[in-house]
Amino acid sequence: PRKFVVGGNWKMNGDQKQAREIIENLTNATLDPNVEVILGVPAIYLPLAKSVLPAKLELAAQNCWKVAKGAFTGEISPAMIKDIGATWVILGHSERRTIFGEKDDLIAEKIGHALDSGLKVIACIGETLEEREGGKAEEVVYRQTKAFVSAIGDRWSNVVLAYEPVWAIGTGKTATPQQAQEMHACLRNWLSGNVSPSVAELVRIQYGGSVTASNAKELAGSPDIDGFLVGGASLKPEFVDIVNASS
Ligand code: 13P
Repeated sequence: PRKFVVGGNWKMNGDQKQAREIIENLTNATLDPNVEVILGVPAIYLPLAKSVLPAKLELAAQNCWKVAKGAFTGEISPAMIKDIGATWVILGHSERRTIFGEKDDLIAEKIGHALDSGLKVIACIGETLEEREGGKAEEVVYRQTKAFVSAIGDRWSNVVLAYEPVWAIGTGKTATPQQAQEMHACLRNWLSGNVSPSVAELVRIQYGGSVTASNAKELAGSPDIDGFLVGGASLKPEFVDIVNASS
């Protein structure tokens, strides 16, 4: 069975005080020990987060560049992320794709380099509303996933896939458990045919997009939903209930 994995993607939110408060709240909370919990903290606050992080939580950067060091003003490398004690990086988030113009090929290079550097990766995919309404949702997520396959190689155990339909992100419009389950099952089937049946069986697929304490339990009940990637609600106390939604 796959271990449930819940990520909190803080995006570009919080300050030092709030970062401490969120982590303190999680430190004091009773979290289901069978759930892996990863905090995606703004890069500038990662060292602060690391300094107060309890052993039950892991840290992720929200992005990185594709080489170890050099003349890349404003970027951070996987080596730096590792150096400050974070173990994960979120790559290919839809905001990176749409606002910053990141394409499948670049995301794949980043994933490859992050894995080479010993980081684990939350690799994000998901269709827009226009693509869904045009009947292209599956085609789009297969294309996005296919782009990662050679960069990942045999390292799928260090990758979590995050299915985040763009129309559900920050909109309050959550995918129904049926919609999410259907896409997750399709993805697993695609992985079985295009990577291997064992990868399809082992890889964890998170759902992301307007996950809250009130919808998390029902979503968590779906057989192919192995966790969540949570934006807005990860800044609030209800994140505890989302972490515990699968128990
Ligand atoms: P919201 O939970 O705020 O909709 O954001 C989802 C997301 O993009 C997580 O990466």
